[in-house]
Amino acid sequence: MNAAKKSIATTKTMMAGANHRRSVAVIGGGIAGLAAALCFARRGAHVRVFEQAQEIKEVGAGLQITPNGGVVLAALGLGAEADEMSLKATGIEPMDALSGQRIAHFDLSNLHGQPYRLFHRADLLDILARACVESGVTITTNARADEIGDTHVRFSGGETVHADLIIGADGLHSRVRPELNGADAPFFTGQVAWRSVIRMPHAEPVARIWMAPGRHIVTYPLIGGRMNIVAVQERDDWSDEGWHYFDEPQSVLNVFADCAPEVMDILSQVQTVRRWGLFRHPVAKHWHDGRRVILGDAAHPTLPFLAQGANLAIEDAWVLAATCDAIEDLDLALAKYQSSRRPRVERAIGVANENARNYHLSGIKRRVAHAGLRTIGAATPGLFLKRLDWLYDHDVTKG
Ligand SMILES: Cc1cc2nc3c(=O)[nH]c(=O)nc-3n(C[C@H](O)[C@H](O)[C@H](O)COP(=O)(O)OP(=O)(O)OC[C@H]3O[C@@H](n4cnc5c(N)ncnc54)[C@H](O)[C@@H]3O)c2cc1C
Repeated sequence: MNAAKKSIATTKTMMAGANHRRSVAVIGGGIAGLAAALCFARRGAHVRVFEQAQEIKEVGAGLQITPNGGVVLAALGLGAEADEMSLKATGIEPMDALSGQRIAHFDLSNLHGQPYRLFHRADLLDILARACVESGVTITTNARADEIGDTHVRFSGGETVHADLIIGADGLHSRVRPELNGADAPFFTGQVAWRSVIRMPHAEPVARIWMAPGRHIVTYPLIGGRMNIVAVQERDDWSDEGWHYFDEPQSVLNVFADCAPEVMDILSQVQTVRRWGLFRHPVAKHWHDGRRVILGDAAHPTLPFLAQGANLAIEDAWVLAATCDAIEDLDLALAKYQSSRRPRVERAIGVANENARNYHLSGIKRRVAHAGLRTIGAATPGLFLKRLDWLYDHDVTKG
């Protein structure tokens, strides 16, 4: 038995709590949905996942899973597989995109506990989906939830499913969220992102943030000699009706045309690219009602500038399952889940919003900020990451 299988066997025997008597229907087979399904199944619940897409898959893009998300993967017995299917980042480097110069190097190799992992999203989804199936979860694709009642879900094909708990893990455009909060629409944040994966066989396992006025690019390598690219530009408008599209590689080159050759070299290798409008809701006021509950982007979508949306979703999943297991009364359990998660999620979202501003500075503010980073990087590099101890060192599995 390899290390991964051995630890799964151990975690399969998690204590018998209230979830043993529960049936759970999860709407959405993204990271939040699969993580929640797995956390409930490992605590004995009878779990079904319903995903509207034809298969569980993610289009090419990377995902940084920080130690706070990693502790949950480890507690679920997935640490060894996660190590196998990701790279361990050794540093974060803010870069000046105009000059191509490195501003500072912040060491990630000495973080406490779990590593800072760089995943291809499809690999993380695959690990979670396989673990779900091994734990008895049934996953139904091509199942779009259209009507969400207190104890039932009706699908577009007409089928109805009943469950003791209905989990809305259906992302930014959630169908469940408005049931709990009334209708609202995500708002455009004034930022557009392009995402692509290119071939880059010998890159160091470092996440680089290339900053330019009104724009930035994040690059990091992935297993298999690939590099993930997310390029962001501030924009006034997003007139399209949908929220992500294929775009022309030349569009990204045009936006960063004044940047250093190092940046243009990377961008010139982009062959296919998707463009996303970055939309947000405020954090949902109500995360639960009766037997319905939301988590992940359905409850609190965040801008990607702290790399926490998926990490927070994984944390939510653990806390939700653990709380429902420990507290028999579902109303009390769901209220406790919301109150324990909300302050942390709001804090992370606040920092992500601040980062958006800091990455895009221009003129004198940009020069001062870069000089500050250079000084911290040279004199006290540990301090830069220390200010994120509250985020990365948090271990929901010990709560
Ligand atoms: C450019 C970019 C970079 C990012 N980088 C990072 C990062 O490095 N680290 C990080 O932690 N986070 C990152 N994030 C955020 C992260 O991607 C999201 O927070 C995370 O994927 C949310 O997961 P989710 O499962 O809640 O939602 P989703 O991934 O949106 O999944 C929702 C699922 O529900 C399904 N669904 C929707 N409606 C229905 C329905 N009615 N019936 C059935 N199924 C339905 C959808 O098809 C989908 O599969 C990034 C985001 C962006 C945009």
